[in-house]
Amino acid sequence: MQKSKRPPISQCRLCRGFCCKKYPGICAPEDIKKLFPAATLHESVGKAITSKKFVIDNWETSQGILYFIRPEIANEDEGITYDCTGRHCIFLTDEGCKLGENKPLECRLLIPRKHVDASCISKLKHYAKELFGRLWRRHIDLGNFEYAS
Ligand code: SF4
Repeated sequence: MQKSKRPPISQCRLCRGFCCKKYPGICAPEDIKKLFPAATLHESVGKAITSKKFVIDNWETSQGILYFIRPEIANEDEGITYDCTGRHCIFLTDEGCKLGENKPLECRLLIPRKHVDASCISKLKHYAKELFGRLWRRHIDLGNFEYAS
């Protein structure tokens, strides 16, 4: 079997959540289905939103607005504060990501940096919001999402 070139995820500890403190990674529909099992994706999304741990976010493109789901942003009321933009992910802890291997696909795709002075590598670069927005649009209309639990 060919060995993966990806560094072990434990190397994420090197940066202590640098990316997670800037903006939470974006979920794929499969991530939400796995975290919130239900008969339909609509129901899984409903459970995710009512958990108040995930939100529907959007990205404006020249062809319209695309919607996707990402973790909620932590705030001071939840006891987590950092000296950055204040847009850190609700799942970030001092020990790493609370979601572990169930972290959003965008987070899982990030290749951790090898050394303290290097940068992590995002294969999606600046296209993540658009790509995930298009992916979600193929499955569900998040722009007009309604759910009563
Ligand atoms: S889900 Fe986990 S890995 Fe992704 S941004 Fe939040 S804390 Fe970081």
